[in-house]
Amino acid sequence: MQQVALLRCPHCTSELEGLSEDVLFFCTECGRAWTLEEELVRTPITILGVPASGTLLLPFWLARASVGVSQRITRRRSISAAISASRHFTAHEERGLQETGGHQGTESFIIPAFACTRALSIAVALKRNPPPLRRAQLDSYPPVVGGSVSPADAIALAHAVAVGAEVEEKDFLASVDVELEPKDVSVLAIVCPAGKLGFQIDDTGVPVTYESMEDAADILAHNGMEGFLT
Ligand SMILES: [Zn+2]
Repeated sequence: MQQVALLRCPHCTSELEGLSEDVLFFCTECGRAWTLEEELVRTPITILGVPASGTLLLPFWLARASVGVSQRITRRRSISAAISASRHFTAHEERGLQETGGHQGTESFIIPAFACTRALSIAVALKRNPPPLRRAQLDSYPPVVGGSVSPADAIALAHAVAVGAEVEEKDFLASVDVELEPKDVSVLAIVCPAGKLGFQIDDTGVPVTYESMEDAADILAHNGMEGFLT
């Protein structure tokens, strides 16, 4: 198992556990979370779900952001019909384009903080089907390791999720401008039951296969669950 150079919790001085690439650290003594930047920065954390045997906590970033959609240009369905030139066309109309449905609002995104080749599709699935905000009742804190994705990378992924949501609308999108301004970023540690091929994110049915995770073996080992990888 890979270990980082010794980091101590700035609050209680307990040793912080993590994998070699981790930027997110959780103190199992005092329950505080820290993001490694120039130094350890306190980061709010919420633990969701019902811990049980055969489960562990996987780290996610919860990003709230202001999302602005503009310059949303769609094609008309009938674009394949012969285009008859009009004397009074605008550039958009000439190409069968029109601008529709710009909007602005605050949205939440849940992005895997563990390295995963399917991070985008997991984030899209969690946008559609977020886990219930059911705080875990804990007598002690289990480890939260494998958080190697930086908050900046999580924001970039949230932007991709927001663009994807526009592309999925049932019209003929030609181009769109999506701006995303992060408001706050915190950690969600979500209880995930381990199965034969991977985890399920509790109460969402969203799967995370071991194969798609860079650190599945180390994360399982750190939680004393090596047996799940055969
Ligand atoms: Zn601590």
